[in-house]
Amino acid sequence: MNLLPKEFDAIEIEKKWQKKWEETGIYRFDWKDTKRLIFSIDTPPPYPSGEFHMGNVLNWTYFDIVARYKRMRGYNVYFPQGWDCHGLGIEVQVEKENNLRKREIPPDKFRKLCEKLVEKYIAMMKEGVIRLGCSVDWTTEYRTMDPDYWRRTQLSFIILYNKGFMYQGTHPVNWCPRCETAIADAEVDYEEREGTLHYIKFPLENGHDYLLIATTRPEFIPACVAVAVNPMDDRFKNYVGRKIIVPIVNRTVEIIPDENVDPSFGTGVVMICTYGDKEDVKTVIKHKLPVITILTENGKINENGAKYAGLTISEAKEAIVKDIEAAGLLQKTEKIQQEIGVCDRCETPVEILERKQWFMKTRILTDKVEKTANEIAWYPDYMKTRLVDWARSLDWDWVISRQRVFGTPIPIWYCKNCGEIIVAKEEWVPIDPKLEKPRIDKCPRCAGREFTPERDVFDTWMDSSISCAVHAGWPDREDWRRLFPADLHPSGIDIIRTWAYYLMVRHLALFDEKPYKSCLINGMVLGSDGRKMSKSLKNYVAAPEVLDKYGTDAARQWAAAGGATGSDIPFRWPDVEYGRRFLTKLWNAARFVSTQLKDYDAGGKCELQLLDKWILSKAEKLTQKVTDALEKCQFNIALEEIRNFTWHIFCDQYIEAVKDRLYKPELYGEEIRKGVQFTLYTVLYRMIQLLAPITPHITEEIYQTMYAEDIGQKSLQLAPWPKPDMEKIDEEAEKKGNLVMAVITEIRREKAEKRKPLNAPIKRVKIYAGKSEFARIISENKEDIVGTCKIAQFEILSEKGNGRQVQEIPEISFISEY
Ligand SMILES: [Zn+2]
Ligand SMILES: [Zn+2]
Repeated sequence: MNLLPKEFDAIEIEKKWQKKWEETGIYRFDWKDTKRLIFSIDTPPPYPSGEFHMGNVLNWTYFDIVARYKRMRGYNVYFPQGWDCHGLGIEVQVEKENNLRKREIPPDKFRKLCEKLVEKYIAMMKEGVIRLGCSVDWTTEYRTMDPDYWRRTQLSFIILYNKGFMYQGTHPVNWCPRCETAIADAEVDYEEREGTLHYIKFPLENGHDYLLIATTRPEFIPACVAVAVNPMDDRFKNYVGRKIIVPIVNRTVEIIPDENVDPSFGTGVVMICTYGDKEDVKTVIKHKLPVITILTENGKINENGAKYAGLTISEAKEAIVKDIEAAGLLQKTEKIQQEIGVCDRCETPVEILERKQWFMKTRILTDKVEKTANEIAWYPDYMKTRLVDWARSLDWDWVISRQRVFGTPIPIWYCKNCGEIIVAKEEWVPIDPKLEKPRIDKCPRCAGREFTPERDVFDTWMDSSISCAVHAGWPDREDWRRLFPADLHPSGIDIIRTWAYYLMVRHLALFDEKPYKSCLINGMVLGSDGRKMSKSLKNYVAAPEVLDKYGTDAARQWAAAGGATGSDIPFRWPDVEYGRRFLTKLWNAARFVSTQLKDYDAGGKCELQLLDKWILSKAEKLTQKVTDALEKCQFNIALEEIRNFTWHIFCDQYIEAVKDRLYKPELYGEEIRKGVQFTLYTVLYRMIQLLAPITPHITEEIYQTMYAEDIGQKSLQLAPWPKPDMEKIDEEAEKKGNLVMAVITEIRREKAEKRKPLNAPIKRVKIYAGKSEFARIISENKEDIVGTCKIAQFEILSEKGNGRQVQEIPEISFISEY
C-alpha cells in the first residue's frame, strides 16, 4: 500500500480532483444504460447574480450529497445544470451599470447588454458550483435566454393556450412603477415602513355634517369611488346609503356597507379608491363600483387626476395634502408603522394597475395542487403546508406577461383590423413576433392582412417552471418520461411559493402529472448575529472567502452539520474551522494507517482480538445509522455520526489501544498484528466510503493513494455504498470492548491529570473489578490495557475497592503507582 504524505493541502487536492472528475466524465448521465435505476435531480437553474453565495453553498451541498450518495447506491444519477437568465434583476442592473432606462435604447440593443452581463455572471457562478465540488453533468448545461430554450417555453404556452389555461384579460395587477412592469404576487415583498395617517373631513351631501376618514394615501382621493363603513358599526350604520362629497374633486359618492371594514382602524370610515390596495379590488368587484384609474405605467398621475396630472405619486401626495389643508378639511396627521408591498427587485412600493395582460388559470388547479403535495415526500415534512397554504391564499390568477425587454417573447400577434388573437403554431417556435410575421396569409376572422406583434414578454418563471420536463428531455427525446417526474426537487424555503408552486401548476396543467417525487428544502443562511445574512447588515460572508481559507470539504461540513433540513442555519467561522480540524484528524489517522499497512496482504491469515471485533461491529452499526440518515436527508445526523466515530472511536480509542500490538509482533504474534492491519484497513475504508458524499475530495485522495489498486474502481464515487453486514454485529464484543476501553480511557485520563505523558510507564495498577464477570473480561484482555497504558505490574481483583472510579462503569475502580 502507498504511503500517504505527511502534509495535505486541502485546496490543492480539491482543485486536482475537480479537474480529474470532469476529465474522466464520471458524473455524466448514461442515456444508454437500461439496467441501473435512474435518479434524476431537478437542479434549480439560478438567476445569475454574479455571486455564488453561502445560501447557494447550503442548497447545492444538500443535493450534491444526495447525488453522490445515490450514485454510490448504484443509481444512474442525472444532475443537470442550467441558468435562469431572464431576471428582472438583470434589467435593473444593466440600467444601473449603463446609466440608462430600457426605453431609451432599441430593445435588441438592450437585450444584447443583458446577455453580456448574464454571461459574465454565469461564469462567476459556474466557478462557484465547480469549486464546491458539485457532481454536475456539464454536458447538460443550458441557458433559458437561448432561442432553443424559448422554443420550449413558447411550446408549453401554446399547448396550454389550446387547452384553455391561458387567457388575456384586463384585471388589476401588481405593478412596479420603477420597473414599469406587472409582477406576480410572489414577486411582492412586504416591508414595515413608516407612513402618515391623514385625518380628512369628507362633507356629507345636503348637510353641514361630515365624516372623518383616516388614510395613508391621500393622493388617491381623485380615484375615490365610494366610502365604506361596517354595517355592524353603530356609529355609522345610519349613514349607509347617504351621499358624501369627495374633497378636492367634489365628486359625490355613496356610503356603502361592507363587513370587511375594520371599525377599529383609523376612524372606522374608509374611502374606496381604484386602486389603493388589494382590498379595494375586492370591494370594487363586490359592489360593482366604477373604476377610475389615475396612475400611468411609470407611476405618475394621469389625466383623470385633473390638476395633479403629470405629478409623481409623492409629489401628488404633497400637493393634495396642501390643498386639503388650505380648504380646512385636514383635521390632524399621525405617524404609523405600516406593512407595504414592494417590488422584490428594486424595493419600490407596488401599485395596482389595470392593463391588458396574459394570465394562466392557476386557481382552478388549487385542489389538485393540494392533493399532489400530499403525494410528494417533503424534507422536512411540514414544508408541504407552506405550498398548500400559499396556493389557497392566492386571490388572482398568475399574470404571466411582463412589460419588459429581456424575456422570452410571447408568440402572439393581433389582427390590426379586428383584433383577433393569432397564436403561433407549435412548429413555428422559437419565434419572436416582433421580428417575424405570423405564417398565415390572412386573418381567419376578417381576412385582414396586417398584424401587430405582442410586445410583452413572459414572466421569467414561465421559463423555469417547466424545468422538470425540460431536464428530462421534453419535448425532443421520446424517452423523456424515464426521467419524469424528477426524483428530487431541491428548493430554498423562500421560493416554495414561486418555484415549487409554479412547477406544480405548469406540469399539472401540461401533463396532468406531478413534476417531482420529493422536495428537499433548505433554510436561509443567517449571519453570526442570528439575522438574515445581508450586505447591508454587515454580517455578510462571501463564499470564496470561506473556500479560500478552509477549503470546500470544510465548508460542506458546515452546510451539512448546521441543522436539520429546512431550518435556518447561521454561518459561524468556528463551524468551518471545526470541519477543517476534522479533516486534519482524518488525514493523520489515514496516514498512520498507511504507515502500518506497508506489508499488508488482504488475503493473508489473521487473528482478530476483542477490540478488533469491537470496532468492526461498531462500524457496521455506524453504516446502518448513516444510511438511514441519508435516506431521510438528515445530513446533520449522518455527518455527526461519522465525525464522532472517526474522532473518538477510531482515533482516540482504537488506534491508541492497538499500537502496542502493531509495534511488538514478537510479543503478541504475527497473526494478531495482521488482525489489527485487517481491521484498520477495513474500518478506514468504511469511514471514507460513508464520508464520500459529504467530503468528496479528501476521501478521494485517501482512496486513490491507499485503496484504488485493491478496489479497482476509478473513483471512490463509483465504489458501491457499503451494506451494513448484520452478521458482523457482535453485541458481546461491543459490551466487553466498551468495558476494556473504559478502563484504558480512565487510566489515560488519570495520567493526563497527573500531567504525565501518555506513554509514561506506570509501576503498578491494581484493579477492583467489582464483580467476577468484569474481572474475567479484564483478565482476558489485559494485554491491551497493559500495553496501551505501559503498566509494569497489573493486578486484577474481583471485589469492589476504593480506588479511582472508572467514569463509564463506576463499579470498577483502580489504584495506580507511578
Ligand atoms: Zn421594481
Ligand atoms: Zn381580423
